[in-house]
Amino acid sequence: MQHEDASDLATLFIAGHWRAASSGGTREVLDPADATVLARVADGCAKDTDAAVAAARRAFDEGPWPHTPVAERAALLRRVADLLQRDREDVARTESRDAGKTLEEGRVDVDDVTAAFRYFADLVMNESGGRVVDAGSPDVHSVVVHEPVGVCAMITPWNYPLLQASWKVAPALAAGNTFVLKPSELTPMSTVRLLQLLDEAGLPEGVGNLVTGAGDPVGARLAEHPDVDLVSFTGGLVSGVKVAQAAAPGVKKVALELGGKNPNVVFADACATDEGFEVAVDQALNAAFIHSGQVCSAGARLIIEESVRDRFVAELVRRAQRIRLGRGTEPGVECGPLVSLQQLEKTERYVADALADGATLRCGGVRPDPGDDRPAGGFFYRPTVLDHCHGDMRVVREETFGPILTVETFHTEDEAVALANDTEYGLAGGVFSADTARARRVAARLRHGTVWINDYHPYLPQAEWGGFGRSGVGRELGPAGLAEYRETKHIYENLRPAPVRWFAG
Ligand code: NAD
Repeated sequence: MQHEDASDLATLFIAGHWRAASSGGTREVLDPADATVLARVADGCAKDTDAAVAAARRAFDEGPWPHTPVAERAALLRRVADLLQRDREDVARTESRDAGKTLEEGRVDVDDVTAAFRYFADLVMNESGGRVVDAGSPDVHSVVVHEPVGVCAMITPWNYPLLQASWKVAPALAAGNTFVLKPSELTPMSTVRLLQLLDEAGLPEGVGNLVTGAGDPVGARLAEHPDVDLVSFTGGLVSGVKVAQAAAPGVKKVALELGGKNPNVVFADACATDEGFEVAVDQALNAAFIHSGQVCSAGARLIIEESVRDRFVAELVRRAQRIRLGRGTEPGVECGPLVSLQQLEKTERYVADALADGATLRCGGVRPDPGDDRPAGGFFYRPTVLDHCHGDMRVVREETFGPILTVETFHTEDEAVALANDTEYGLAGGVFSADTARARRVAARLRHGTVWINDYHPYLPQAEWGGFGRSGVGRELGPAGLAEYRETKHIYENLRPAPVRWFAG
């Protein structure tokens, strides 16, 4: 790593060099557990973004990376995976401090990211190259090949900073692209670590570039930049639409991973035994409240069969009240703070509106008092259950991205499906039923990109992730997650050239 500026403000990585912002601008990164300053980073501007795109362009057009043998590219990805495991504890701690999640969640993220790097290394190594097409003549050799797209702009959110960046970086590099990455201004630290590890693993100069800074100008400039070939964005709907609009005049490829308002459907038969009841309640709790609900696939809408509602919600509330809030790095803490004051106030507004619209507050709905593990000034909010909700409420329709679980009920399977699909989003959802045929029937009818049966939240690097409806365009992970970073080319070779004689003269 070559530091031109030894301070912690040199967080731009451009053409293989760590730099401060050209304007000298800096930005504070807050610890969400107590609102103190955790770090200061470079506040990149449009000029820095242009420099990073130029470096990525040069590395793609003139550098070796797009033509580097697949085995070497895969080996680099594996080295990154090994380095992530070497620094597992340190990276997990960085993520925990920055994003407010528990240390254990940070460790899970590092392991998941490691698996993604290894998966894409294996995937490209196991490919057979081009696909020979039968052109109907022995004199024609016709083959379809895949090539890297070019310079990829990557814009990521604050809830899973390392993970979201890696789901883009790993396939983009495996396919031979170069990139400029812009992490969320709220949580850039683990992405800085990732670029350090890529550098240590031997990524050639200019192949991977990082610009820390605000959505506008850095993200906005990346989306419109004429030398960018593809924009991959993960974040909220409003910013995603802006990115798509900015990219449209250049007819860039655009991949969008946006929000969700995800149903968790629980049938009474899932609760028929004590064990089944415990599983369904426990999973509903996990679906809604892990990482304080700041998860794009959070099961924030509990859609439960009316006959078991009272018992189920009572147990859910009992357990939600016991969730231990605190600084994510403290042992025993189960939920950290929200990421920012803005996110905390937004959560409060959703709860206030829901209560005004007739919802019943069953638990939470307040900021907790400071405690030993819960410093004053942190952006904490109690896990909140709102009963008697319905589809006309903002809290049911919009992504709150806070620890709020709404409860709706149904009587029939058709009603359950209709409620679960009554959303403009379509990212993920869960179905709990002891009746396998029913669970599969309902899963088949849900208009969501991921459906869990008798489980909630797991994903696999080898299975695609992404949304129906306004949850996005394109897929990450799996073979389709690699295909996003490729162009397809048909090469038609005439082995016995002859005149066509279409024109007589
Ligand atoms: P956000 O849209 O506010 O910001 C996301 C990124 O976009 C940040 O880096 C931000 O700086 C940048 N940005 C903001 N305005 C921009 C603009 N005009 N042009 C270009 N870039 C711009 O989202 P957030 O609040 O950081 O993250 C939360 C959102 O992310 C939620 O909606 C969540 O559902 C979504 N998310 C989706 C997935 C998924 O896989 N579908 C995963 C994680 C998060």
